[in-house]
Amino acid sequence: MLFVYQFYRNSKDDAAIINSLGKIRGSIQRYVKLILVKDESLDVTEVERTVNELISQYENDNIPFLESIKTTWSNIKELSDKYLKDSNHSNRQLLINESEKIWETSENLVRSKQYSSENDMVYLLLPVAFLTLEFFVGIGLLYIVKKYVYDNLESITLYDLLTDVYSRRYFFELLKGEISKAQRKEYMFSVIMFDIDHFKKVNDTYGHDKGDYVLKTIADIVKSSIRKADALSRIGGEEFTILLPDTNIDKATALAERVRRSVEDYKFDVVGRATISLGVTEFKADDSSDTLFKRVDEAMYLAKNSGRNCVKVNSGGVQ
Ligand code: GH3
Ligand code: MG
Ligand code: MG
Repeated sequence: MLFVYQFYRNSKDDAAIINSLGKIRGSIQRYVKLILVKDESLDVTEVERTVNELISQYENDNIPFLESIKTTWSNIKELSDKYLKDSNHSNRQLLINESEKIWETSENLVRSKQYSSENDMVYLLLPVAFLTLEFFVGIGLLYIVKKYVYDNLESITLYDLLTDVYSRRYFFELLKGEISKAQRKEYMFSVIMFDIDHFKKVNDTYGHDKGDYVLKTIADIVKSSIRKADALSRIGGEEFTILLPDTNIDKATALAERVRRSVEDYKFDVVGRATISLGVTEFKADDSSDTLFKRVDEAMYLAKNSGRNCVKVNSGGVQ
């Protein structure tokens, strides 16, 4: 920006100098013209004074070529006197030739300013190149920020914000992964689904915040009862799943029972006791994530319909 400002300042100064020289040149031309027409009614001294004033005024402005202008000006005055005394053709021509020099000087000045402006342009290109670079760096940064935000959104959908267990979306991703693994080789896995009993009553009696506290605490209790490889996910308001890799239905049922008891035994602040109903199923050869999910959901509703706070199994066979 500083470069651009400097270039602007220089161009402005150059324009002012060319303009000043134009004024001096115009006044001298007028002076010569008045001398040549020799009209007594016209006041030559007035124009002479103007030229003198302009030259002394611009002396402080450091105008280049001012010295040569001053020399030409004093020659013109001398030749004018000569012409006024003897108005022959030769004196007239000398005066005209001298006044022409002013044009040459001003042309030289414009040319020299043009040259320095072209040099300044090179310096102007530097900031332009810098700004272009900045633009591309900006786009790069924008891309990085966008990717960062996107990655974080990804992690928000990976985890449930309230309970810090896996999200519903991630549960289905894990489930699909387990199914394709089980279809490729001899491998078994099971799924538990559970739902908090009469949770609406907890909210209604103790408020939503206490409800949140119970939800979070139950998630923590279950997390501490399962293996690292087991994945606890919150798939709905107060519904959870536990994906148990490399686990058959018997082991899964035993684990479900342990989890049920851990929750039942826990004494929640203010709320007191809370229970959960659990359903268990294991992978079947022709399962899709939908059929397996439906089966474990049915098992859990069986537990609800069987009086709650219990574990029910749906192995996929005849009930
Ligand atoms: P059931 O034993 O049949 O499961 O009865 P319930 O009252 O638990 O079942 P219902 O589905 O009728 O109610 C679930 C309640 O869970 C309703 C809803 O307000 C509450 N809930 C869902 N998500 C949240 C949450 O994030 N925080 C809190 N505090 N409550 C939630
Ligand atoms: Mg419930
Ligand atoms: Mg529910």
